[in-house]
Amino acid sequence: MVQNNLQFEIQGVALLDIAKKFGTPLYVYDGQKILDQVALLKQAFNTVDLRIKYATKALSNLNILKLMRKSGAGVDAVSIEEVHLCLHAGYQPEEIMYTPNCVAFDEIQQAVKLGVMINIDNIPMLEHFGTYYGQEIPICIRLNPHILAGGNAKISVGHIDSKFGISVLQLKHVLKIVEAYQLNVTGLHIHTGSDILDATVFLKGAEIVFDAAREFKDLQFLDFGGGFKVGYKPGDVTTDIMDVGQKVSEAFKAFCEEYGRNLELWFEPGKFLVSEAGYLLVKANVVKSTPASTFVGVDSGLNHLIRPMMYDAYHGVVNLSQTEGPERVYTIVGYICETDTIAADRKLKEIKEGDVLAIKNAGAYGFSMSSNYNSRLRPAEVLVLDGKAHLIRERESFEDILRHQVDIGL
Ligand SMILES: *Cc1c(COP(=O)(O)O)cnc(C)c1O
Repeated sequence: MVQNNLQFEIQGVALLDIAKKFGTPLYVYDGQKILDQVALLKQAFNTVDLRIKYATKALSNLNILKLMRKSGAGVDAVSIEEVHLCLHAGYQPEEIMYTPNCVAFDEIQQAVKLGVMINIDNIPMLEHFGTYYGQEIPICIRLNPHILAGGNAKISVGHIDSKFGISVLQLKHVLKIVEAYQLNVTGLHIHTGSDILDATVFLKGAEIVFDAAREFKDLQFLDFGGGFKVGYKPGDVTTDIMDVGQKVSEAFKAFCEEYGRNLELWFEPGKFLVSEAGYLLVKANVVKSTPASTFVGVDSGLNHLIRPMMYDAYHGVVNLSQTEGPERVYTIVGYICETDTIAADRKLKEIKEGDVLAIKNAGAYGFSMSSNYNSRLRPAEVLVLDGKAHLIRERESFEDILRHQVDIGL
């Protein structure tokens, strides 16, 4: 039992006690696990000038951003709102990479005013940028390497039919624009998708970036995006980060030698840094048998964690309230009026009404993709740091549902 309980502790604090104190549904993050992941990435790339730009969109609570900053990581922001959030969290503009997609030019102009690094994602924008700013503002260019990678079609963004980046096949066109406007291109970027498994995909991407980079004279960094795969299922194959680190670093150093200058190597991991650190704690409301399944209905759903329904994502589940006794097969579902299966056909310790379940790997794209669908309230968030559980976001209240609605007096 002690052994079982240990799995359900964060820095010596029992998840069950956290649920009792703050209620459910609740997002809980292990701050130390986040710091450990940052350290691991640094270690894997310790022979190059690595810069980590945490992908804010994965988990954007201010305290998480501040923790990242303390760990020495910069940030990648995909909207002007995320840029403001990162500035609010204490980041200096030069620590922020702004990687928007399909935004209006005025958002780019705002980002220029704020002084962050701009990552240009299409040719019309590049020309527009040239017209307005010429060589005055350094930029990065997002290339689409046409690599089909990623665990799911919805999270593969670097393939031939993807809306992201400027095709590497258009490099000649890009170079003409750079020449005509005398653009100051200091970085090249690719991001091929999420859940990328092995070093060869990263190496393939890197080779494409190197080929393009030979055409630019003033580069300071190459940015290989995010996408490291973490384990969701027991026995899942995950990115071997030390292997990727060693192989990509070697290729990178060889390139720098040829280029004649040492460049910075950037990565923008989201999942890798925060996925495993997060748990969504929920309570079993109903245990209901049908001819085909035993459903456990919990006080959460796709409004709080959309990944299972949106990406067919697998999230491990444990019954925190029962550590002994028989196991049964359950399908864990939410309370949303729509099919919202969180986990199907899982063998768990027998579940009784009121038991608290922990949904694992909920740190990345959990809270940040949550909504008020069905007019439900979003969960509170707790960060465990130095053995102490801190509330970092209050649970919503009914006032939040009404906020911004305008009653026209009907
Ligand atoms: C989403 C995103 C990332 C992070 O992807 P992960 O799979 O979470 O590592 C990195 N860079 C960009 C540009 C992104 O859009």
